[in-house]
Amino acid sequence: MKSFIVIAVDGGAASGKSSTSRAVASRQNLLHVDTGAHYRTVSLALLRAGLTPADAAKVPAALAGIAPSTVVEGRAARLAMGGELPADAQIRTPEVNAAVSQFAAIPEVRKFLFDYQRDQVREARERGFDGLIMEGRDIGSVILPDADLRLFLEADLVARAARRAAEGQADAVAERDRRDATRAAAPMVCPTGATRIDNTHLSLEQVVDLICGMVDTKRAAARV
Ligand code: C5P
Repeated sequence: MKSFIVIAVDGGAASGKSSTSRAVASRQNLLHVDTGAHYRTVSLALLRAGLTPADAAKVPAALAGIAPSTVVEGRAARLAMGGELPADAQIRTPEVNAAVSQFAAIPEVRKFLFDYQRDQVREARERGFDGLIMEGRDIGSVILPDADLRLFLEADLVARAARRAAEGQADAVAERDRRDATRAAAPMVCPTGATRIDNTHLSLEQVVDLICGMVDTKRAAARV
């Protein structure tokens, strides 16, 4: 039997976290949890409730009425709010891109997601996956500090902006990074002891091979 492995992946906007995590999940049969999508889904719910990031005081009441739940599609765990699973296109609009890092800086928003995100490890075990790969900004530092592997993905800013533009997305990558790294609540950091991977000049396959090699080493060590 394979040992259950928990992987935390952090990094800035468009640093390749999602495509890398999805591919590693596929090769290693892991549940893939994109916590950026969680913050986007919560932001969409708050925008729909008529709130802006300036309305922080109204956020707890707005969130109190919306129960989070998990929908697993293939290897991807998705957050549903009040039973509704928003389409990917709905959480990646210019409006959500512009508001998400400001909503994510509100401590009540982070508190709302904290237990839900930690509980994804149980979700992965119960559904029979061989582990979990969770990506975000505070996964190795706050959500899963005891993860078996903690990774921090990087790429230079020009490459990252070009990736978003190639996806046809209006997204101020540098501005989101600045907000995410300087906020008081769970700022984006490369956790102490995490492995930094700069993928500016690496293909997706090279990065996935590298991480799968680390997973195999961890699993071999767990067997002895
Ligand atoms: O990963 P993605 O770019 O989709 O994340 C959207 C936003 O969600 C980030 O810019 C950040 O403000 C917030 N986020 C966060 N903590 C996480 C994941 C995302 O604050 N763990």
